[in-house]
Amino acid sequence: MAQTVLFVGLGNMGSGMCANLVKAGFEVHAFDLSKDAVAAAVAKGAHAVEDLRSFDGSGLDAMVTMLPAGKHVAQVYMEDSPQSMRKGTLMIDCSTIDVETARALGQGATERGYPAVDAPVSGGTAAAEAGTLTFMVGGAPEHFEMAKPYLEAMGKKVFHAGGNGNGQAAKIANNMLLAISMIGTCEAFHLAEKLGLDAQTFYDISSNASGQSWSMTSYCPAPGPVPAAPSNRDYNPGFAVPMMLKDLGLAIEAAGTSGSTVPLGQHAKHLYEEAAKAHGDKDFSVILPMLNEGLLK
Ligand code: NAD
Repeated sequence: MAQTVLFVGLGNMGSGMCANLVKAGFEVHAFDLSKDAVAAAVAKGAHAVEDLRSFDGSGLDAMVTMLPAGKHVAQVYMEDSPQSMRKGTLMIDCSTIDVETARALGQGATERGYPAVDAPVSGGTAAAEAGTLTFMVGGAPEHFEMAKPYLEAMGKKVFHAGGNGNGQAAKIANNMLLAISMIGTCEAFHLAEKLGLDAQTFYDISSNASGQSWSMTSYCPAPGPVPAAPSNRDYNPGFAVPMMLKDLGLAIEAAGTSGSTVPLGQHAKHLYEEAAKAHGDKDFSVILPMLNEGLLK
């Protein structure tokens, strides 16, 4: 019999993920505060849930959440989830939220008899639609195994990062590194061009030398060398500046609570705050034109 899933949060990411669960043969019940979002999910084969709390959850195998922030996930886990959900129903939170909340919600749900994992994603809306997301999962090994079939229906790679909250930890540490490496790559192109190298020449050398990185070879912030990069379409996202700023905020918050020292992460957050003021709707590689225009210090 098909596994039955309740999907909560049908926004930019959740809509594609929900549709991929349907495509993979799961029976999916879909809920969002937006009626339009629910209607769009129904058009792709999900069943509408009108009211979350009173929904008959006795037949559910799993609940997947894809929500904006920790407070929304806490609201659903602690207040709004179906009252009739049977013990043993697996909770999979795919949202990007703070490590502390993820750990507390995951451990709390598990203690109440609901196995729980945090499973934030790498990859944007295109990957959500194509079913090619990467999942970083925190939770007990047996709960990771339970979650795998659901995650494999929505993604291409699924990694176990350790206990509850470790999925979020992996995600924000990775994205802090991405921010730092993107800023460094932008500074290198800025400097090289000021010194008389054109972007392609610098790319050809550095991408084959020790400065090479994903930010350079997959997502080059200078227009030209990597045709699919947002730099070639006026820095339209891509991965928008506010998203990067959100993840950096979570990283700096987690650094504070864990006593970690992240001076470059702090400075990256400051630069992305400036980017959000000047170019809030642009891709996070917009740092390069901002340097060229003298907008960053
Ligand atoms: P979104 O704002 O488009 O969607 C969130 C949805 O949740 C909305 O439809 C909203 O109505 C719904 N919602 C909010 N509170 C709710 C509640 N209490 N009950 C039911 N529904 C509720 O956001 P998104 O872009 O889909 O992002 C979702 C999560 O994925 C975020 O944590 C984000 O950081 C993460 N993420 C996003 C991207 C991206 O490229 N968009 C990439 C990776 C990770």
